Amino acid sequence: AVPEDAIDLVVIGGGPGGYSAAFRAADLGLRVALVEREATLGGVCLNVGCIPSKALLHVAAVKEEAERLSAHGISFGTPLVDLDRLRAFKAGVVNKLTSGLAFMAKTRKVTVIRGTATFTDTHHLDVALEGGGSDRIAFRSCIIAAGSEPVHLPFLPQDPRIVDSTGALDLPFVPKRMLVIGGGIIGLEMATVYSALGSVIDVVEQFDGLLAGVDRDLEKLWMGQNKHRFGRIMTSTRLVSIEAGADGLHVVFDGKDAGPATYDLVLQAVGRRPAGSTLKLEAAGLAHDRSFIPVDDQMRTKVAHIFAIGDIVGQPMLAHKAVHQGHVAAESAAGHKTGFDAKVIPSVAYTAPEIAWVGLTEAEARAQGIAVKVARFPWAASGRAVANGADHGVTKLVLSADTGRVVGGAIVGPSAGDLIGEICLAIEMGADAVDIGKTIHPHPTLGESIGMAAEVALGACTDLP
Ligand code: FAD
Repeated sequence: AVPEDAIDLVVIGGGPGGYSAAFRAADLGLRVALVEREATLGGVCLNVGCIPSKALLHVAAVKEEAERLSAHGISFGTPLVDLDRLRAFKAGVVNKLTSGLAFMAKTRKVTVIRGTATFTDTHHLDVALEGGGSDRIAFRSCIIAAGSEPVHLPFLPQDPRIVDSTGALDLPFVPKRMLVIGGGIIGLEMATVYSALGSVIDVVEQFDGLLAGVDRDLEKLWMGQNKHRFGRIMTSTRLVSIEAGADGLHVVFDGKDAGPATYDLVLQAVGRRPAGSTLKLEAAGLAHDRSFIPVDDQMRTKVAHIFAIGDIVGQPMLAHKAVHQGHVAAESAAGHKTGFDAKVIPSVAYTAPEIAWVGLTEAEARAQGIAVKVARFPWAASGRAVANGADHGVTKLVLSADTGRVVGGAIVGPSAGDLIGEICLAIEMGADAVDIGKTIHPHPTLGESIGMAAEVALGACTDLP
């Protein structure tokens, strides 16, 4: 039975999933408590993920753009890197946003409790308070939004020169030679930052390509634009061991053309796993293990008044997915008819250039036996891209050969992450090449390339410079 003193909703975890759920539930009239063990709201994304990495990537992109301007007649002096000021800029960005969240919680009368929550039964939590002591919370409904934590390879030595993404974002120093373990989005974004600061980067990846999930033709294009950053890209290669020496980290690999090497800094970016181990989930009748928590499309766990959202429920581990699931869980807890039925969730690597993709890739469609038509628009034919020095970009649409509807898309080039939203909308709305191609896009813009790709699919020639 629901305890008499129960609060309507308690949310565990103040990341993008948790705070979005708490705010939506409060807006719907529920009394809400939000438990977060860290000092600020925002979770991984705001504190040690999306936002600090993008602050650094912005600086990296501006620096590289400024260097390129010499070819267009504008030269600056040699850039000086002041790590203290760069760290302060990054911290300022994070502080602005996390204090904004604290303010939004206050205006909505969401009670924020600083501590670590554990279940004691299906209607109670114990919170070990940050300042000492504990609090017992009775709840009608609960949303678990405890997120994820980085996977650490167990056989690596403890050494301050071996870091995860959080350690890399701290910018301990600019290494001469850096190894990134893992060729996924997080590893390659940090590689972009450190390479702009002056490091030479090697990447080791156990699979046969980088950026799993993107079509190989676009990966190849991206690689072509990023060659200058890297010493060696070792795909189909495993890291065997690291020995910490006074002169550096001595690394042995197992793979073709992957002789041993010595590095000043090693970043482990080999994935993230659900962070449920602190919650005592079994006390709430949920399975106690380190895997993702299963949920239905209302984000309910097998205990109907306990919901779970965000990284802790599975891939893709992305902030925009967590936010949408948070809204669904809050609306369900408030008794509204709702469900998580996103057709697609976009992925973006905010590298330089960016690469973004959504929906079915060409390879996935073919593997599933779906007949598709593929249209590519090279940015060399886009006036704006040429003017911006971005004529290496490409916009690709994957359309159903039967219906003409867009089923996927990908973009390589500056601002690809901003541009991909139009393709997401097209897929959600069931738009076809005519809808996109006959929509007048502003000229000259990079976004025009999506309209042009649709025109390519329609067999029409593009005649704008
Ligand atoms: P989290 O953000 O992980 O928040 C969970 C919160 O729960 C944490 O604050 C934690 O302290 C708290 N918590 C856990 N257990 C307890 C407990 N028992 N009691 C109290 N509190 C608890 N995603 C994107 O979409 N775009 C990006 O550009 C992007 N960049 C990234 C860059 C990096 C370097 C990293 C590491 C991740 C990035 N991500 C990005 C992923 C994104 O950060 C996550 O998908 C997102 O933060 C997940 O949100 P969440 O609410 O599920 O969990």
